[in-house]
Amino acid sequence: MAEKRYDVVVVGAGNAAFSAAHAAAEQGGRVLVLEKAPREAMGGNSYFTAGAIRTTHNGLEDLRPLLDDLSDEQAAATELDPYTPEAFMADMRRVTEGRCDPELTRIMVHESTDTVRWLQEKGLRFRLMYDRQSFEVGGKRRFWGGLVLGTVGGGKGLIEQHVRAAEEEGVEIRYDSPVVGLLKDHAGSIRGVICQGPDGRSEIEAGAVVLAGGGFESDPQMRAAYLGPQWDVARVRGTQHNTGEVLRMAIDAGAQPYGNWSGCHSIAWDAAAPPTGDWELTNLFSKQSYPLGIVVNRESKRFIDEGADFRNYTYAKYGAEILRQPGALAYQLFDAKTELLLRQDEYTAPGVSRYEAETIDELAEKLDLDPPVLRRTVDEFNAAVVPGDDFDPSVKDGKRTEGIEPPKSNWALPIDRPPFYGFAVTCGITFTFGGVRVDDEARVLDRSGRPIGGLYAAGELVGGLFYHNYPGGSGLTSGAVFGRRAGRAAASIVARSTA
Ligand SMILES: Cc1cc2nc3c(=O)[nH]c(=O)nc-3n(C[C@H](O)[C@H](O)[C@H](O)COP(=O)(O)OP(=O)(O)OC[C@H]3O[C@@H](n4cnc5c(N)ncnc54)[C@H](O)[C@@H]3O)c2cc1C
Repeated sequence: MAEKRYDVVVVGAGNAAFSAAHAAAEQGGRVLVLEKAPREAMGGNSYFTAGAIRTTHNGLEDLRPLLDDLSDEQAAATELDPYTPEAFMADMRRVTEGRCDPELTRIMVHESTDTVRWLQEKGLRFRLMYDRQSFEVGGKRRFWGGLVLGTVGGGKGLIEQHVRAAEEEGVEIRYDSPVVGLLKDHAGSIRGVICQGPDGRSEIEAGAVVLAGGGFESDPQMRAAYLGPQWDVARVRGTQHNTGEVLRMAIDAGAQPYGNWSGCHSIAWDAAAPPTGDWELTNLFSKQSYPLGIVVNRESKRFIDEGADFRNYTYAKYGAEILRQPGALAYQLFDAKTELLLRQDEYTAPGVSRYEAETIDELAEKLDLDPPVLRRTVDEFNAAVVPGDDFDPSVKDGKRTEGIEPPKSNWALPIDRPPFYGFAVTCGITFTFGGVRVDDEARVLDRSGRPIGGLYAAGELVGGLFYHNYPGGSGLTSGAVFGRRAGRAAASIVARSTA
């Protein structure tokens, strides 16, 4: 059955898709969003986020117009260094081991702030992430790790605000409407999509199509095929709907695969978490305060440098390290000195794998670890901590160990003050890094590097930005920047062709 024609059809209803929809609607286009999930499970991975979004800025005064509520008193008690485009570029190059696509990265970095301002105009609301990205030092809240902005209401707020804005712009949104195919014209350009909606299959004609249907992190077969053995058993942190078919459709239509197809974002995730994201607790199964303690495997051995860098620059690669351990399990250990510094929302959420004990032996028993072996690991670690009072979680304090492998390079404090705390974690996959290749207008390129007519892409299914690792908060930035570019370019090409 054929339906009425739209100017722009957007596939997916996450942050990248809505950014594209807002931009297309702004150009006056008739815009349709097709979302695979039912209304009550929409929003993709974007819904499950903390809403943290990485942008460049010149310090607090520069950010203030973006913030919902910030009293002068709060501002005076806040220390926040500028985060320059050069610093964001350098972070991208460092964590991706120099592999990030220079042009895509340049666009993401240089448009990050302007895109957030634009989203604010659309009705999105922002705040400083005091709870997750700052520590109190000397009576002030000091931000660390280049990430300061978050959406009001986290991922839930982000999606609610996006939906409201899209509806006000006249964008039509259909839920329970997976896209199952792309329509091509005689010249090989995309002229619409096939949708399997609640009333059956239909062909929807469009001037341009923006693909924002996520990666393949929720498909165990694709995970095993591209990421490698064991990845099929990883837990999925977010939506169950990002199963890679939109990516496959694009590749079948001639798109060029691009980026780190064997790589993904994965983190330390509560071992008691369900197989796919929890609608209520969303992000709270994350366990991201490991730089303040030590992490051991089921043999009670340490296997990572917990203090190699700020959490924002290590967390997205440490999930893979946990997956490699026996049973794909690990245990984060802390003592009374650092327990209060843990992200309380994550470490005290209902149902998390939290254990408390007065001795290391008792903690080992509760965690089902071998007490003498765990005690030896803790004793060796404690003995290796270089003494000094210079512990400061808000900077890379250089407070380290000496003479043990792996080392702990920052924030090394002995684990010696009861009570002791243990948290069981496994690997939670967030999203996959492999995708299709786009140019600076978010046009999907074919295998010879030429744009495929009428086809645009944004968000997780774009490859080339992230390799091996990722600077926290960049997923929403990438989706918003390239979603906006995709929507704008798609609508303007349609406007030109019908003028
Ligand atoms: C628990 C968690 C916390 C995170 N926290 C952060 C954070 O704080 N900051 C940050 O920057 N990033 C974070 N991320 C990563 C971030 O979620 C992603 O980078 C970003 O949301 C991706 O946006 P997207 O629009 O590309 O994909 P999504 O938001 O996943 O949207 C894709 C949409 O496509 C739909 N879809 C799939 N197949 C089809 C089909 N065939 N037809 C129609 N629709 C389809 C899906 O249902 C989904 O709604 C987090 C991720 C998770 C899981």
